[in-house]
Amino acid sequence: MDWILSSARVGAALALMAAYVALCAGIAWRQRQRSQAARREQQQLQAGSGHGPAVLVAYASQTGQAEALAHESARVLHEAGCAVRLMSLQEITQADLRACAHSLWVVATCGEGDAPDQALGFVRRMLDKPLDLEGHEAHVLALGDREYVQFCAFGLRVQAWLEAQKAQTAMLCMSNMDEAVLRSWREAVGGLVQRLTGRQADAWTEPEPERLWVLQRRQRLNPGSQGGAVYLLDWVPESGALPTWESGDLVSLCVESDPERPRDYSIANVSSDGCLQLLVRQSTRADGTPGLASDWLCTGLEEGGRLALRLRAHSGFRLGDNAHRPLILIGNGTGLAGLCSHIKARVARGCADQWLVFGERHPEHDALLDAQLQQWLAQGQLARLDRAWSRHAQTPGYVQHVLAAEAGRLKSWVERGAAIYVCGSQQGMAQAVDQLLRELLGSEPLDALALQGRYRRDVY
Ligand SMILES: Cc1cc2nc3c(=O)[nH]c(=O)nc-3n(C[C@H](O)[C@H](O)[C@H](O)COP(=O)(O)OP(=O)(O)OC[C@H]3O[C@@H](n4cnc5c(N)ncnc54)[C@H](O)[C@@H]3O)c2cc1C
Repeated sequence: MDWILSSARVGAALALMAAYVALCAGIAWRQRQRSQAARREQQQLQAGSGHGPAVLVAYASQTGQAEALAHESARVLHEAGCAVRLMSLQEITQADLRACAHSLWVVATCGEGDAPDQALGFVRRMLDKPLDLEGHEAHVLALGDREYVQFCAFGLRVQAWLEAQKAQTAMLCMSNMDEAVLRSWREAVGGLVQRLTGRQADAWTEPEPERLWVLQRRQRLNPGSQGGAVYLLDWVPESGALPTWESGDLVSLCVESDPERPRDYSIANVSSDGCLQLLVRQSTRADGTPGLASDWLCTGLEEGGRLALRLRAHSGFRLGDNAHRPLILIGNGTGLAGLCSHIKARVARGCADQWLVFGERHPEHDALLDAQLQQWLAQGQLARLDRAWSRHAQTPGYVQHVLAAEAGRLKSWVERGAAIYVCGSQQGMAQAVDQLLRELLGSEPLDALALQGRYRRDVY
């Protein structure tokens, strides 16, 4: 009897396992099919496809939004039968522009009116050079934030250059994905489709919807610090399964006190952890008042409370083709989030060839996620860890000082194919690191690394 019961149990367990394996295989197969189809479409758009002279769709993205919009615009043109070439600004040559009678430009502005990293080569190679674009029609969509004095400055600079080359231009400036401006852009693309093909444009794909998430746990990482408090926040979806994301991706969220202006946060972990983690610093404004979103995340929202989050693919900071290269990961403060997500993704793949250079204030209070970093180091999953402490009594320094002292190692890592990822403060850290890399590796070689996707930044 016992034997019959237990064999029935074993049979049921085996059947359950077989069903589970089949379900997983089915999901994996569907995901593979979807990503192969997306890759095929991407390749077609990049190579140029469809009939007639191509419409050039150009983008310069810092956090992936401009790229996603350009991709969607290219898809709408392509599906209506237009020939399309989708290109990042850094790839565009004069010949590409001359070969097209129409172009769409989706360009972000970052920092104090600066061009995104992806566009720096274009600025150097093209923006001061004359080019006859008489008869060319260009639509420019500039992405920015109206609170900045230099709102959409880079997009406006691109438009001014196109006009100076005698192109006929139409310009839209969009603050924080403003829906009315987005509608106008869709109408402009629809109008172009109509004129070029006589057909109606297809429906646009709406961005990934917001979902409600529950703050499961919040932990202060730097008690006693002289700087702003930094917290590790664990989130789970209010309902349904945890969605998947890639290391390097972002979360975008709005808080009640400022529903119009979303804030981005780098995801600090990988989906296989079973929750989504953010590293948030409680910021203080210049006038001494707390930053709206970070204050709500760090002290306002209770554990167990809910907030709508939107996951955002950040293709410019993902591992992409660098998944198996040696990685030099450089950052400061909450920039550790984006770097940790990459280390976790690579540890899961068994890649240990990664060197972390991280800067904070004081080793006693600001050694963020120290236990995790030490564990990776001890287990050989992190090849090297260098930390710079700006408030250290004996040896104060910043990450650029560590890199300068390790110049030989840095060069030899790059020579053997390493990719460089920088995450954290734009002012101070990322600027100083960029300057040092230009000194050590040369400006042109660094631009070439950026063009190959081997120099990537998630800086703010
Ligand atoms: C790609 C990306 C990734 C990020 N990742 C992280 C992360 O992982 N962790 C993290 O803690 N932060 C991250 N940030 C920063 C984050 O998005 C918020 O900016 C930060 O939390 C401050 O927001 P706040 O609402 O608390 O402050 P706010 O209320 O927005 O105020 C911040 C300060 O900036 C000033 N300010 C705000 N907006 C403007 C403006 N438009 N022009 C000029 N000054 C302005 C304010 O006056 C104030 O001094 C990231 C930003 C980006 C773009």
